[in-house]
Amino acid sequence: MQEVKKPSKKPLIYYYVMTILILMLLNATLFPSILEKKVQDVTYDVFMSMTYDRNVGQVQIEGDEITFTDKAEENIYKTVAVSSDQGLVDRLYESGAQFQEIDTQPGLLTSILVGWVLPLLPFLFIGYFINRKMQKAMGGGEGMMFGMGGGSGAKVYVPSSTGIRFADVAGEDEAKELLHEIVDFLHDPEKYREIGAKLPKGALLVGPPGTGKTLLAKAVAGEANVPFFSIAGSEFVEMFVGRGAAKVRDLFKQANEKAPCIVFIDEIDTIGKKRDGQFSGNDEREQTLNQLLTEMDGFDGSKGVVVLAATNRPDSLDPALLRPGRFDRRIPVELPDLQGRVEILKVHAKKIRLAEDVDFEPIAKMAAGASGAELANIVNEAALRAVRDGRKFATQEDLQESVEVVIAGYQKKTRVLSDQEKKIVAYHEIGHALVAAMQTHSAPVQKITIIPRTSGALGYTLQVDDGDHFLMSKEELMNKICTYTGGRAAEELIFHSVTTGASNDIEQATKLARAMVSQFGMADEFGMVAFETVSNQYLGGDASLTCSPETQTRLDQKVMEIVETQRQKALSILKENEDKLHRLAQYLYDHETITGQEFMTILEQGERE
Ligand code: ADP
Ligand code: MG
Ligand code: ZN
Repeated sequence: MQEVKKPSKKPLIYYYVMTILILMLLNATLFPSILEKKVQDVTYDVFMSMTYDRNVGQVQIEGDEITFTDKAEENIYKTVAVSSDQGLVDRLYESGAQFQEIDTQPGLLTSILVGWVLPLLPFLFIGYFINRKMQKAMGGGEGMMFGMGGGSGAKVYVPSSTGIRFADVAGEDEAKELLHEIVDFLHDPEKYREIGAKLPKGALLVGPPGTGKTLLAKAVAGEANVPFFSIAGSEFVEMFVGRGAAKVRDLFKQANEKAPCIVFIDEIDTIGKKRDGQFSGNDEREQTLNQLLTEMDGFDGSKGVVVLAATNRPDSLDPALLRPGRFDRRIPVELPDLQGRVEILKVHAKKIRLAEDVDFEPIAKMAAGASGAELANIVNEAALRAVRDGRKFATQEDLQESVEVVIAGYQKKTRVLSDQEKKIVAYHEIGHALVAAMQTHSAPVQKITIIPRTSGALGYTLQVDDGDHFLMSKEELMNKICTYTGGRAAEELIFHSVTTGASNDIEQATKLARAMVSQFGMADEFGMVAFETVSNQYLGGDASLTCSPETQTRLDQKVMEIVETQRQKALSILKENEDKLHRLAQYLYDHETITGQEFMTILEQGERE
């Protein structure tokens, strides 16, 4: 446990001492002159006439100075007596004036009230606010150092404020179903208690970036009419040891008070990383994690506090966090399938104005492998394109183009390719497409363009699968590698030289071939042995080798062999169809873009001749 320091009151004492000093100064200088009753100087004849009018109340005579008030004793006057006026006293007596000392000083009570109490009030008020602010900044006066900002930072969400419901999350039906149960429990706990079922304490949303994990959590908040605390894992990361832990404690304290409620920790991997005892370790992070583990054990599940968390690095999480009783429910939020993509496109299309005849299915097919966030982006790009063209609604074509924009970047307007380069790129791309088309198992080509893109691609081939594929056979993978090598093969065949344009193809082909050998067990001589383990499956899927250097050498040789065999195959396919290659490349060179249909027409023409 860390030491809990009470916030220092010192600054506040200084503040009050200063206030008293300022008030003393004011009382000595400014206040008396303000508070003193106003004395009006008048001439003697005014005094005389007031006496005759019997309009004098009190009179005080000091030498030749006469101070007097009117009958109502409201105003005080002062005048200098004319020394020859002998009958003055008698006359005053007759007029009914009272001889009395007139006090021009304010009363004691008034002077205390006006001089001290009143000015003190605003100071007290300001002091009170400073005090409150300081305590807030100290996280309710808990575990502070140097009196710097703090608090758990958890925001309480009013249920309707996010406004996101399950209906706003398209696809992801399994995830929604699992979360729905949690929402249901919070609404009607009796139903579950009767049968003795316990609410899971925590659920962990795992999946690649942009698949809607944060969105789902917000939808849960929108559906469950309970308070929703949302905090990002990074908000627990603090400079000082113990601060993060204090935040965790504070968060769960708040949550327990508000139960039933939902606590959502986004990007939990920032604090939930494996504690691996390497180096001196990160004390602060470890303490925060320990505190989280303790809190999750500590609270009573039946009270109705549910902890949701999201991450795209589940493999880096501490196993202690994942054991039953903590995040015992794991909710996969995967990349959407074809149907899911169509639905996501539809959800986002509601936000923009679209032509009536838009068909989302071909768009979804084009955008294979896109995440929800990318699909949302595609729809928005389409709307932007429509505006750019001065139209009032987006069309099918806008959507198609924006898929390409999201995949390959914007079209480059300026011509950067020389004539010869353009020719090479045309042959290269047709090489890919032709090899793909000639192998029965390859997906048909949707479109090929040689308009350079901002991503750096000089041209590209858009392949569209007819549906989702979950399994790939060895043969299909081989054909894919063959297609990757088709571009370079065409360059070699026609121009007898090679260019740098194939670097990405080479990378892809190698990656695939390596995975076949070391992960999929598709090379006979190595058998069913894994030589690589994939870490970070949701973030690129880096693989690390787990084999001896000797095996590694053999693996490399095998990979080279696979790619080379496929390159030879591609070369022979292109040689056999060289006339088609020329015709198609010429067409692409002239038109810069060729659709799948045009491609097939030209291909079949060649076959008929
Ligand atoms: P992450 O999984 O990385 O937390 P987000 O939940 O932040 O992803 O999603 C980012 C954006 O992508 C959302 O705001 C939403 O617009 C869009 N999105 C992602 N998945 C979906 C989905 N299943 N349905 C609708 N929109 C989605
Ligand atoms: Mg997120
Ligand atoms: Zn290529």
